Amino acid sequence: MRFDNSYARLPDRFYTRTSPVAVAAPRMLKFNQALADELGLELPTDEQTRAKIFTGNLNPEGGEPLALAYAGHQFGHFNPQLGDGRAVLIGEIVARDGRRLDMQLKGSGRTPFSRGGDGRAAFGPVLREYLLSEAMHALGVPTTRSLAAAATGEAVYREAPLPGAVLTRIASSHLRIGTFQYFAARGDGEAVRILVDYAIKRLYPHLEGAANPALALMEAVVEAQAKLIAKWLSIGFIHGVMNTDNTSISGETIDYGPCAFVDAYDHMAVFSSIDAQGRYAYANQPPIGQWNLARFAETLLGVIDDDKDRAVEQATKRLEAFMPAFHAHWTRLMRAKLGLLVEEEGDTQLANDLFNAMHASKADFTLTFRTLPAHMEADASSEEDSPEMSAWLAAWRARHERERQSPEARRALMESVNPIFIPRNHRVEQALELATRGDFTAFDRLLSAVSRPFDVRADMIELAQGPRPDERVLQTFCGT
Ligand code: AMP
Ligand code: MG
Repeated sequence: MRFDNSYARLPDRFYTRTSPVAVAAPRMLKFNQALADELGLELPTDEQTRAKIFTGNLNPEGGEPLALAYAGHQFGHFNPQLGDGRAVLIGEIVARDGRRLDMQLKGSGRTPFSRGGDGRAAFGPVLREYLLSEAMHALGVPTTRSLAAAATGEAVYREAPLPGAVLTRIASSHLRIGTFQYFAARGDGEAVRILVDYAIKRLYPHLEGAANPALALMEAVVEAQAKLIAKWLSIGFIHGVMNTDNTSISGETIDYGPCAFVDAYDHMAVFSSIDAQGRYAYANQPPIGQWNLARFAETLLGVIDDDKDRAVEQATKRLEAFMPAFHAHWTRLMRAKLGLLVEEEGDTQLANDLFNAMHASKADFTLTFRTLPAHMEADASSEEDSPEMSAWLAAWRARHERERQSPEARRALMESVNPIFIPRNHRVEQALELATRGDFTAFDRLLSAVSRPFDVRADMIELAQGPRPDERVLQTFCGT
């Protein structure tokens, strides 16, 4: 692996140098060969050496382990000091295509930012992130990736002792809104300026030389987050912990804790056990995204303009671009999901009406979209459809009469964007429970299905179905 660690060249106050804490018995659980190939990574073929690297027992040559400093608003409350409490940035890999990517170990032991925590992670959360992030990638959603999961051979104590594991996460960077907040809260304007330049150079190089770098960055991050959250909504994804420390400047999905895919649709679906108020409910995600971006804007004010009023005015203008950008992305995604190639004014309303019909009938999100092509013919309506859904389908068919492409083309479009396989909560839970006990059969099967989410595979069809009432998962946990 080729490392070039630009973050380690930033001033000392951006991180603490710290090594992963060695574990008792490293053992590989999962290795993402496809990702390693894509990045052109050359790793030792010996399993034991790999297991040592991916648990942190062996520092790869060129790695300079660091724990990053950051702050963040958690459920609306500001915490000025968070930081990598259970993760270590090993370094930045330079991929074959020139991309620079963070390689981070998560669950690698205590760091100076651990506060009361043990710095560790159990099998469940590690494998959950591995599965979910790879599924999201296959669904075309910007996300951090998972390169490896390795067992530590040590117990992690939560409510009960659980087998411990470490995840190796690959990300465009681990810069978060919370990174900027960390320095802004300390009145360290110089550090914020350094971060702006670093973020542009690393994530938005086309902005280099912008007249006002902080404003240009703000604009880019607003757009990236608008696009990301529209994607989430288009597949029924609920992040679950949209705190500002979990909001990436790159616009990638990061931190798969209690996230979930909605099955029986509800606008305000919440799964996370720690989100009692529903702050991060399905339909709250766009306004929360904008709220987080407002916190980002606040950190940049001093860098945008010496004149506070002018800075606020400029930042507000950028922030106000969020909702229109989100709606534009959402409508574009929805048109494709509904098989529409012609653009009409009423399409946003048509899509909204579908969400209302799904909400009223508690329809399965993924199956509703995936089975749309079967409803293209008027006589295809089945008795199973609720009155709301039947009414909507009639409106949708009328809209399709104004399309110019062949029905086959419209069907193909829908099937290319409406997945058949998503990591359904009940399947994820079953797979993780078995894997924790050492049986990876269900996990591997599910991973295989969600890695090709649009392909019909008859032998896996049970994974496409919604949960029976007794199988429904009502709550998810972050398990930290
Ligand atoms: P997260 O919920 O993963 O976004 O984490 C929020 C904060 O809590 C971050 O600063 C983490 O590093 C820290 N944290 C979470 N779990 C642990 C743990 N087991 N040990 C130490 N720090 C933790
Ligand atoms: Mg986090």
